[in-house]
Amino acid sequence: MRFVRFQAGSDLPRFGWVYEDKIGPVDGSIFDEYRRQEATLPLDTVRLLAPVVPSKIICIGHNYVERAHEQGEDVPDIPLLFLKPPSSVIGTGAVIEIPPQSHQVEHEAELAVVIGREGRWIPLDKVKEHILGYTIANDVTARDLEQRDGQWTRGKGFDTFCPLGPWLETDLDPADALIRCRVDGEIRQMASTRDMVFTVPQLVAFISSVMRLMPGDVILTGTPAGIGPLEANNVVEISIEGIGSLINPVRNSAAGQ
Ligand code: MG
Repeated sequence: MRFVRFQAGSDLPRFGWVYEDKIGPVDGSIFDEYRRQEATLPLDTVRLLAPVVPSKIICIGHNYVERAHEQGEDVPDIPLLFLKPPSSVIGTGAVIEIPPQSHQVEHEAELAVVIGREGRWIPLDKVKEHILGYTIANDVTARDLEQRDGQWTRGKGFDTFCPLGPWLETDLDPADALIRCRVDGEIRQMASTRDMVFTVPQLVAFISSVMRLMPGDVILTGTPAGIGPLEANNVVEISIEGIGSLINPVRNSAAGQ
């Protein structure tokens, strides 16, 4: 099933589900008990928001062999974790803003895991019970700032640097899904999730040995090779087989805005 968060006109944001090209509202909590109303709202008449509001976004660095080598790094022997702030999240169609502090903003196409059930020290064979579904992420990065700072909080943390969407897909096999990233229609990244160094269950188990995972938390599983620059007026589209497409235009942001 596909869950969305959406806004119709000036109504408050709410959860819904998608059937073909229509949305039906969902009553209750998608993380607990819920009831689906009939899908009658045409998708193109509402604004899609990021499918969840995470308490934290945990990201994995260098989780594809070719990408690690592209960055001049070895493949890590344990997952390399960092965080993006919840304030960086936007939905599909929303603008990625290039901050005035950076001259090298780049896209990173990634499969994102959405946690459905709270957990700490989750064993490998129980990970499935804690995952609600999957969505698409763009781990937008100010590469020059990331490299200058020596750690990643600033380079990864700007507002609009975490597009998520277009929806949450509950029926996906994360072991072999094709990820594609196009900028203005030109293919930049294409790889299967089977090339990940650490699998989704390994990542969830490892992260939960460090921090409690909460419903709605999002894990960005790393990007394959082929990252590249984003410039004002580009449109970046990331597609994952079995989910859909996350599409975001890019604009410059002036200081103080
Ligand atoms: Mg990344």
